[in-house]
Amino acid sequence: MHKWNFRKLKILRSLKVRLFLILFIVGLIPCIFMRYAILENYEHRAVSVRTSDVQAQLRILANHLIAYRYLQDTSSEVINAELNQLSNLYDGRVLIINSSLKVVKDTYGISEGKTIVSEEVIRCMKGENTSQYDSENGYIEMTIPITETMVMDMTGEEPKKFDIVSGVMLTSVSTDNITVTMDILSRQALVVEVIVIIAIFLVSFVLSQLLIRPFEKITDALSQVKEGYKSDPISVPDYLETEHIGDAFNQVLSRMKVLDDSRQEFVSNVSHELKTPITSIKVLADSLRGQEDVPVELYREFMEDIATEIDRENKIINDLLALVKMDGAASTLNISQVDINLLVELIMRRLRPIAIKRDIELVYESIRPVMAAVDEVKITQVITNLIENAIKYNKEHGWVKVTVDADHQFFTVEVADSGIGIPADSVEHIYERFYRVDKSHSREIEGTGLGLSITRSAILMHRGTIKVVSEEGEGTTFTVKIPLTYIAVS
Ligand code: ADP
Repeated sequence: MHKWNFRKLKILRSLKVRLFLILFIVGLIPCIFMRYAILENYEHRAVSVRTSDVQAQLRILANHLIAYRYLQDTSSEVINAELNQLSNLYDGRVLIINSSLKVVKDTYGISEGKTIVSEEVIRCMKGENTSQYDSENGYIEMTIPITETMVMDMTGEEPKKFDIVSGVMLTSVSTDNITVTMDILSRQALVVEVIVIIAIFLVSFVLSQLLIRPFEKITDALSQVKEGYKSDPISVPDYLETEHIGDAFNQVLSRMKVLDDSRQEFVSNVSHELKTPITSIKVLADSLRGQEDVPVELYREFMEDIATEIDRENKIINDLLALVKMDGAASTLNISQVDINLLVELIMRRLRPIAIKRDIELVYESIRPVMAAVDEVKITQVITNLIENAIKYNKEHGWVKVTVDADHQFFTVEVADSGIGIPADSVEHIYERFYRVDKSHSREIEGTGLGLSITRSAILMHRGTIKVVSEEGEGTTFTVKIPLTYIAVS
């Protein structure tokens, strides 16, 4: 079976072509119907005018026929002349039929003496007018009764009048001139129709072009943005639809701009952060090279400084790699059932030496045992970062308290410290890449400003949340909340 695949008819998928076809067809239909309606109407009216004209003439004639007693004697010159005149005038034929259905007069002289028994004649004998239009052969046939009024004089009562049909006039008149007029009209209508169709074609063509223009404008604007000529917002307010497309695109554009800006900022921050240790190393190395007979102690000291800077560089690179891994599309979670309490204990044991160095008390509280489906490496990174920060940004002899708790859906890890706190205006920025609250004291406290950024990404990957409450000079509490079971999005 041959199947029409409209998708393959590419031209029909064009809105412009569809609009054109709709406009053209909608315009065409009334135009064609109008021609038929006008012609039909004219024909109907012309036939009925002709019929009533002839009938009026025949009625007058019928009276004359009675007056001259023509049915009994057809020799009346006057009536014959009238009959001839009538048949000439209407290019027709008149038959006079008497009450015994016999033709007493035929203007064509063919049927005289014959008997006509047709339905129309019989109906007419009963006093009915009939008329019939034969459009194919081009004539109207009509019958008119010839009626005589009889007066009956009844004794003692009022005289009564009766109409008696004493004959029938059967007439057929030609409608050739109506047909001729119709032909002329039809030809004229055809010419008008062709002109109107051409006009409709042109109007549909122009309209479909105009109606589609806003969409073309939007495509132009989009390709200009694509080719990079401009990055201004798109505005095509011609239609609500194009306005919506424009608005949606502008939103995408501004989102892309934000992403682009943040990427640029990130790149410049990365270069800056990576350059700082290298600059220090270069300065240290140059100063050693520039001096002669440098004492071994100074060498050792500078070399240690250089090693520290290399460590710093290494940490920044590692953090960056961790961040990139989590941002990228390749970031997948390696989910397994993890004993969170055990994990926190292990991390705290690892960090205890740093805390002891600063005389900071590490407290661990487990409210209930927690098993959760998480990526162990990433969650270890999260908890380590938070406890490390709590130790780093603490005061001498301070404390850090880690609490693990859970409900039936989530587990929480709370890391509270008695540290320096975060100023209120900085709180919203701490998760930004490379953000550090106080650049001046940052030198003393080591860090890259990437830790919390990595932490937050890892938590979001687990569909968890991180909240911070901080009071400057008093301390900070970070609360991490993560679902116990991991639901992968399909
Ligand atoms: P860094 O490598 O500097 O620690 P982070 O992203 O981990 O980077 O933290 C960003 C900034 O947030 C830190 O520089 C610090 O100023 C602030 N901050 C983080 N944790 C704490 C905390 N527990 N107490 C006070 N300030 C904190």
